[in-house]
Amino acid sequence: SVCWHGRQKRLFSTTKRRMTIMPAWVIDKYGGNDVLRFTKNASFPVITYPNEVIIKVNAAGLNPIDVGMRGGYGASSLSMKRDPLNLKQNGMEFPLILGRDVSGVIMECGLDVKYFTERDEVWAAIPPWKQGSLAEFVVLSANEISRKPKLLSHREAAAIPYVAATSWSALVNTGGLSKDNCAKKRILILGGSGGVGTFAIQMLKAWGAHVTVTCSQNAERFVRDLGADHVVDYTSGPVEKPLGELEKFDLILDNVGGETERWALTLLKPWSGAKYVTLVTPFLQNTDLLGIADGMMQNAATVATKALKHLVKGVHYRWGFFAPSGPALDEISEMVDAGQIRAVVEETFRFSQVPHAFEKMEKGHARGKTVVQIS
Ligand code: NDP
Repeated sequence: SVCWHGRQKRLFSTTKRRMTIMPAWVIDKYGGNDVLRFTKNASFPVITYPNEVIIKVNAAGLNPIDVGMRGGYGASSLSMKRDPLNLKQNGMEFPLILGRDVSGVIMECGLDVKYFTERDEVWAAIPPWKQGSLAEFVVLSANEISRKPKLLSHREAAAIPYVAATSWSALVNTGGLSKDNCAKKRILILGGSGGVGTFAIQMLKAWGAHVTVTCSQNAERFVRDLGADHVVDYTSGPVEKPLGELEKFDLILDNVGGETERWALTLLKPWSGAKYVTLVTPFLQNTDLLGIADGMMQNAATVATKALKHLVKGVHYRWGFFAPSGPALDEISEMVDAGQIRAVVEETFRFSQVPHAFEKMEKGHARGKTVVQIS
């Protein structure tokens, strides 16, 4: 019987090694929803570096950047990140797999992976230059992943990592906030009802901040339930007037962009280190339009000019970005298991319905997150 078991084991690992294809939704060119293609023959991910793991995807989460990337958003910068020496031909990113959030189970670990083992339940936000989670398997670095909160199903867990990592990067790394310095702070979130807003409200409330939110009138109840202290409806007229009548803010997180930065910085407390952090930046559009070198020059010039313009008025202007971080997700996982943050899933789609999920995302007016159940 020992022999039989040994043989079974060998057979299993041989089968595992032989897997070369998997089901996935891919795109072969940039465009509208019609470029999404289901295939059973997508390349199985391989461990290239010893700190990588292969995850069997249980659920995937979608973000506005997936709709953007389907249409070619960020293509030049992301191609450079995938192939820094520009050794490959144009279009080598195809077939491209979208999907930035994953919750699943580790199937295989690279030789240097210490903190995780096979069968660990993990969650992660997948950087946009890597193959995404709308597939049965995905490969990621161990420093990008984290143990999934025990309280959440995979479906719920897939609603959190990308918006959480973005909020962490924008509020903690760029905005200088932490669980220990929020207690007396007044924070304004422009656009509170979407993916980033619904997460950021909960994290800041857990850290003791006072949170004001702008959103549509029909989302007021929704954001209050998540903890928002004060809500301003942007659909009943310009928000700068009612917001201007409030006590000034220590930090503004802007999820809306457009005209907002013309007036938002006047709502900050001057000469107190107060910061405006916007997530809506022309960073990738500039490199798409002007190429990497000129686009980066343009980005540097734009952000420096704006930062200086506001610095002389005593407030800080910053661009915020998503950044992958397993350690940040570890802390968020603890907050979820402590009951401080919950997943806000607006709608779940089956793996066969991925194009419907994209259609839903494109309609806008998100109230939380869109998730795809993969297995
Ligand atoms: P969502 O699509 O999930 O949410 C957007 C929300 O904003 C919706 O609830 C929408 O609802 C609401 N909204 C629209 N217009 C306004 C307005 N004028 N005032 C207040 N609320 C408004 O997006 P995410 O939360 O995932 O992302 C927010 C933004 O941040 C996006 O532009 C995204 O591209 C960007 N982002 C940037 C990142 C970066 O690395 N720089 C990373 C992640 C996100 P309704 O229309 O019904 O009011």
